Amino acid sequence: MKFTRLRLSGFKSFVDATDLVIEPGLTGVIGPNGCGKSNLLEAMRWVMGENSFKNMRGTAMEDVIFAGTTGRPSRNHAEVTLVIDNSGRTAPAAYNALDTIEVLRRIEKDAGSSYRINGKEVRARDVQLLFADASTGSHSPALVRQGQIGQLIASKPINRRRILEEAAGITGLYTRRHEAELRLKAAEANMTRMDDVMGQIEIQLAGLKRQARQAARYKNLSGMIREQQSIMLHLKWQNAITALATDEERLNASNARVTETSRDAVIASKAQADAAETLPPLREAEAMAAAKLHRLTVERDQLEAEERRAREQAERLAATLRQIAQDLERERHLMEDTRAALDRLSLEEAELRGAEEGQVEAQAQAGEQVEAFRTRLESRERALDDLNRDVAALVAQRQSLQQQSQAAVSRLERLERQLADLGRERDILTGG
Ligand code: ATP
Repeated sequence: MKFTRLRLSGFKSFVDATDLVIEPGLTGVIGPNGCGKSNLLEAMRWVMGENSFKNMRGTAMEDVIFAGTTGRPSRNHAEVTLVIDNSGRTAPAAYNALDTIEVLRRIEKDAGSSYRINGKEVRARDVQLLFADASTGSHSPALVRQGQIGQLIASKPINRRRILEEAAGITGLYTRRHEAELRLKAAEANMTRMDDVMGQIEIQLAGLKRQARQAARYKNLSGMIREQQSIMLHLKWQNAITALATDEERLNASNARVTETSRDAVIASKAQADAAETLPPLREAEAMAAAKLHRLTVERDQLEAEERRAREQAERLAATLRQIAQDLERERHLMEDTRAALDRLSLEEAELRGAEEGQVEAQAQAGEQVEAFRTRLESRERALDDLNRDVAALVAQRQSLQQQSQAAVSRLERLERQLADLGRERDILTGG
């Protein structure tokens, strides 16, 4: 593998884009300590896929980005390109189309590294393999660090063997073997996982078989249920047909009844219209009858009150008559007593006349007594006459009241009859 150019940009102390041309023969880099000679070698190792930041003399891989100086600000990315001569077309088939192969590695802060071969993005592994196939790479013993020769002399035989194997060009085979071993391990892991998956699938298969059996049973039962449902639906259908026929008959009868009722309704409407025409005069008559009834009712109440009053007066007069009769009886008794007394006094007067002489004073006293009795008798007779007149007047008044009462009763009966007639008339009008 022949390197022709190393281009650096922002890598360690190479802040500006710098091209190191590697001509045929021996190329040397000369400079004072700390001028950046080792940085060039590190750039080659880095672009070949170096993963260890310790081998880059840093604390992190981002330390390879130019960190800035007092006069220049730091950069955010670093880029190194290694140009390889491929005019002999010895590169792997994927990169063998061109005369040169450009391998580029770029690192950005917080974004990590990316690789490109001839502008096409590739994995770090692809770049490492490209160099390993050519028996070189970031860990190639051909790239000798400062103090590494002494370290090599003092190293173990196995490390020396690596140098010999690299010289024999079988480093790539080792790398590939390692990869193949990794793939084999991955395949074994896959096989183990497949066994697990198979186990799970077998469990699932058993479950699915059980579900299939259940599904078959469900299908049989569903068929039976469908059959029974069909029979049931057929029976329901037949019942529905019978019910439909019955309902149709009932519908026809109902329609006939509806027609009949409609006819009756028309007649009733006509009658209602006629009645509505005759209603206003009837209502007027009803109002008049009601007014008349009210008037008659008031009149009846008045007559009843009058009758009540007449009855009470008649009762009072009857009581007075009874009282007068008792008084008359008593006066009669008194008159009889008075007549008896008069008779007795006449007798006494006659007796006294016989003894008149001696007894003139007694006769005078008896005469005064007789006079007094007579006066008293006359006043009693006047009172009796007055009473007889009063009695006659009362009797006449009682007869007149009795006549009035009878007239009122007969008028009341007539009014009650009229009232009953009016009530019937009103019932006829409102019932209608
Ligand atoms: P010596 O011969 O003593 O080994 P050298 O010529 O090989 O020296 P290097 O060790 O390659 O020099 O370079 C060291 C120089 O690179 C130092 O001056 C250091 O400041 C500078 N340097 C290293 N890393 C960075 C960085 N990330 N940014 C800026 N400068 C850097």
